[in-house]
Amino acid sequence: MRLDCQDIADRAAPWLDQQLSPGETELVERHLDGCAACRERLELLSEQRFERPRLVQVEAPDFWRAMDDRLAQEHERLLAERAAAGPTPTSWWKREIRLSGASLAAAAALALSLAGVSAWQAARAVQADAALASVQQELERERRLSASREPTLPREPVVLVSHLPYRGSL
Ligand SMILES: [Zn+2]
Repeated sequence: MRLDCQDIADRAAPWLDQQLSPGETELVERHLDGCAACRERLELLSEQRFERPRLVQVEAPDFWRAMDDRLAQEHERLLAERAAAGPTPTSWWKREIRLSGASLAAAAALALSLAGVSAWQAARAVQADAALASVQQELERERRLSASREPTLPREPVVLVSHLPYRGSL
C-alpha cells in the first residue's frame, strides 16, 4: 500500500502527535522519504504546532510588592519575637516543677497551653484565683506524665507561603 499526498495531509496531525500505528507511521515516513513537498508541509505544520510561547518579562505588579513589604514586616516581627523569647528551653519536662509564685504561673500557662488552650486564654486563666485549683491538678498530672514519658507537644499549625520574599528568609 502506498500513500499519496492527500493521505499524508489527512494523517499529518496524528503523525506529529505520534498517534499512528507503527504500520501507518512507516507508510507515512516512506512517503516523506520520497516527497519533498510533503516533508516541507509537515515541517511547517510542526513548527506552527510546537512553537514555543514567547516569554515576556514583566514588572512585578504592585500586589506582589505590597506582599513583599508585608512579608518583610512579618519577618522582622518574628525575628524580634524570637530574640525576645531568648533561647528555647530544652528538656523542660525533665526539670522539677516548683510550685512557687512566678514559676507556678509560667508552669500553669505551659500546662494549659499543652492542654490545647491558647496562650491568651491561659494568661487570663492564670490571673483568676479560681483557676489555681485546676491548674494544680493539671500540674500533678503533668508531673506524673513527666515521670513516665515525654508529653506529646501540640502540633504547630503549618503555614505555607509560595511567594518568595525578596528580603530575608525564615
Ligand atoms: Zn507527498
